[in-house]
Amino acid sequence: MNAPVKPSNLIKGATGEWEMVIGIEVHAQVTSNAKLFSAASTAFGGDPNSHVSLVDAAMPGMLPVINEECVRQAVRTGLGLNARINLRSVFDRKNYFYPDLPQGYQISQYKSPIVGEGEVVVDLADGTSFVVGIERLHLEQDAGKSLHDQHADMSAIDLNRSGVALMEIVSRPDMRSSEQARAYVTKLRTILRYLGTCDGDMEKGNLRADVNVSVRRPGEPFGTRCEIKNVNSIRFIGQAIEHEARRQIGILEDGGSIDQETRLFDPDKGETRAMRSKEEAHDYRYFPDPDLLPLEFSQSFVDALKADLPELPDQKKGRFIADLGLTPYDSTVLVSEHESANFYESVLAGLANARRDGKVAANWVINELFGRLNKEGVSIAASPVSASQLAAIIDLIGEGTISGKIAKDLFEIVWTEGGDPRVLVEARGMKQVTDMGAIEKVVDDIVAANPDKVAQVRAKPQMIGWFVGQVMKASGGKVNPQAVNDLLKTRLGL
Ligand code: ADP
Ligand code: MG
Repeated sequence: MNAPVKPSNLIKGATGEWEMVIGIEVHAQVTSNAKLFSAASTAFGGDPNSHVSLVDAAMPGMLPVINEECVRQAVRTGLGLNARINLRSVFDRKNYFYPDLPQGYQISQYKSPIVGEGEVVVDLADGTSFVVGIERLHLEQDAGKSLHDQHADMSAIDLNRSGVALMEIVSRPDMRSSEQARAYVTKLRTILRYLGTCDGDMEKGNLRADVNVSVRRPGEPFGTRCEIKNVNSIRFIGQAIEHEARRQIGILEDGGSIDQETRLFDPDKGETRAMRSKEEAHDYRYFPDPDLLPLEFSQSFVDALKADLPELPDQKKGRFIADLGLTPYDSTVLVSEHESANFYESVLAGLANARRDGKVAANWVINELFGRLNKEGVSIAASPVSASQLAAIIDLIGEGTISGKIAKDLFEIVWTEGGDPRVLVEARGMKQVTDMGAIEKVVDDIVAANPDKVAQVRAKPQMIGWFVGQVMKASGGKVNPQAVNDLLKTRLGL
């Protein structure tokens, strides 16, 4: 399945319409305690060069030893991307010189990656979805870091990251707008987080994207692409694509042609600039690393990992829709962050009748709770209203003890003062009036006091809303609106 081509995806140029084509290579740091080929720690933020083994520093004669945990994580990720797992893959040397690459080569996988074709279902803000094909996922080492701000006339090298395992996840050129590209990286990151194979922290550089952009006339073959390297936020991915596509359109409309080149995005200026052209592209002289045997494992190794995968966002979404009747939109909101989904599921677990009230609970979690948390800038983890408190509020509505309106007041009290919702409802007299006699009295008083309105409502039955409102007001919102409605109809002879 290809990305949908909606008219809104096309860009208007001076000479007609253009379509963007986007493919993304994501570098995701593998969540593991030790590096890909050494036992040094992968912990973030240590003193420079404090997590460096002799292998990571490329001392002569050192031998890499594959970290099985990184292999497991790559396979689990491949399974999460519905991808083909290759039982045999090969580590190659990708040769180039860089001051923070002491080996003089990166160990990577070239012709035979550990994971082959897969796909990601991407959700858009309007509730629709589309599919992005995955070409491959391979394992490789990260490089160290050059620090240029430590000394006036020298650069310093920190090798803490040297040798940390990365997964390079290469998409097919299946995206047609910056919105789709942002949504793809967002979804990929969500999947990695559910799997626990990469924390997706873009600020720390644990997930970064090389974004390939080309433009074409709708229906024409793909154009020449430029690759924007190392974009490290979702917002910047969108900005870089928008700028780059317009730059290319400008050149083509002026009668020029696009040079295939590598570019960098400058977030301060919001533009991309050339880094190197194809002619300057490295010849990496890939060859199989003679220090490492081909990586081989059995289908049963894969099957065991598969059996152990957690429920992933798409499955969770499907379950929310099928079992609880949630809308696709609400389900997407709830599953998009693992923490949100966990909170919602804790609310469900606390409900007396989750099947009946699951949909109401979704509304409360999304609109009342997340809305409020967002407004106040509070994280879910620090929510003043716990999942069990929210479940109690929803139970009180479901069983008819309080009205939806009173529930909002109760939510407010729990948010600011805390407390057991059930106890609060008792103590503050918030219970819905179920005594029909009492409701009848209020209804009769209002009917008696407003003969003019009674005459009006007989002519115009929609006016009943006015009466319902008056009764709700007189009772402090503590009567069931449906019961009032029914009663009014009989009393007014409607
Ligand atoms: P390379 O081997 O030079 O890195 P790949 O074929 O692996 O090239 O492609 C790298 C990335 O570029 C992939 O994510 C792919 O989807 C994307 N890509 C390929 N062709 C185009 C194109 N014409 N426009 C935009 N992206 C493209
Ligand atoms: Mg590539």
